[in-house]
Amino acid sequence: MLNFLNEKFFRYIFVFLLLNSAILPLRASSALAAWALKNNGVLELRTKSDANLKAFFQKANQIYGDRFWIDFPGELKNPRKILGNGPIKEIRLGKPIKGKTRLVIEFEKEINLKPLTWRMIGTDQNTWRIKLFSPNYSFKTIGEGIVRKKAGNIKVDKKSIFINKRINDFLELPEVKRNKFFVIVDPGHGGPDPGAIGIGGIKETDVVLEVSKIIKKLLSEKGVKVRLTRNYEVDLDLPQRVDFANRFNSDIFVSIHANASRGKRKDINGLETFYFRGWRGRTLAKRIQRQILRVSPGSPDRGVKQGRFYVIKNTKMPAVLVEIGFLTGRLDARRLEKKEHRKRIAYAIAKGILEYLSKTG
Ligand code: ZN
Repeated sequence: MLNFLNEKFFRYIFVFLLLNSAILPLRASSALAAWALKNNGVLELRTKSDANLKAFFQKANQIYGDRFWIDFPGELKNPRKILGNGPIKEIRLGKPIKGKTRLVIEFEKEINLKPLTWRMIGTDQNTWRIKLFSPNYSFKTIGEGIVRKKAGNIKVDKKSIFINKRINDFLELPEVKRNKFFVIVDPGHGGPDPGAIGIGGIKETDVVLEVSKIIKKLLSEKGVKVRLTRNYEVDLDLPQRVDFANRFNSDIFVSIHANASRGKRKDINGLETFYFRGWRGRTLAKRIQRQILRVSPGSPDRGVKQGRFYVIKNTKMPAVLVEIGFLTGRLDARRLEKKEHRKRIAYAIAKGILEYLSKTG
């Protein structure tokens, strides 16, 4: 059905995987349970229990229009085709690979999608949304289907989805002028104050200290001078952190935190970055936010916001406070408990900082 040897095809898959992290770390289902493509351009998927989903995009060629598909573990019973309308040419549910179900969305040839802007958002452990296009194409909601799995034929692909080498290549850190910049990284909380406590007892203080230490290492390698406000579990008041930064007169101040939702809701996940004042602070926040989102596929973008936190309000230099995920959220906590993800987050924050220093600092 698809020309897997086509170079162009591979290139697009590659780009899509890197920029959109389309292979999703959904250890969420043993099969696709239901799907809906709404007329606002949103594809909604409901999966069953633990599984990985893989998503792909192929750019239009002379014969086909743009095409998007997702592979789910488990074979469905009855392959079928659904005729589309508006921008959608057709939707197919098939089983091109043994043990897998594939949902394919074929778009009309004149439709030009922007897969690089797509993000898969986990709204709950088993529910996923992806906005495929903006609603300026009018069309009717296309079918809502239930996919019944073929009994006794479910294979769960537990292979890890992130290929770290690719992520590292992708995040290749920018160069900055050596021995020119000074950054203070502030791991939140510490000592008797553990900060947020999440699923399984995961502590904010531990996570942010580890991430901060990796950031320090990465920036130091690029010739940036870095000091941490704390290097170990110590009780450090907010004014002490601020005095530390102001005394050293660093170029920027970056405070690292992890979130907890009220009522410890497991369905609340996401990343956000705060600044208090100035375009420099906002620019730094934007650069960091963009990078951390890239390494956290599926986790919602809660945005770059103005915040009145003590440490960013009272420091004299451009200052930001990064919330690297919800320790109380199922999706974020599962990641943040892993060393590999902490490294990725640190890498992303270091990249945002270096981009800022090389262009704005
Ligand atoms: Zn905190």
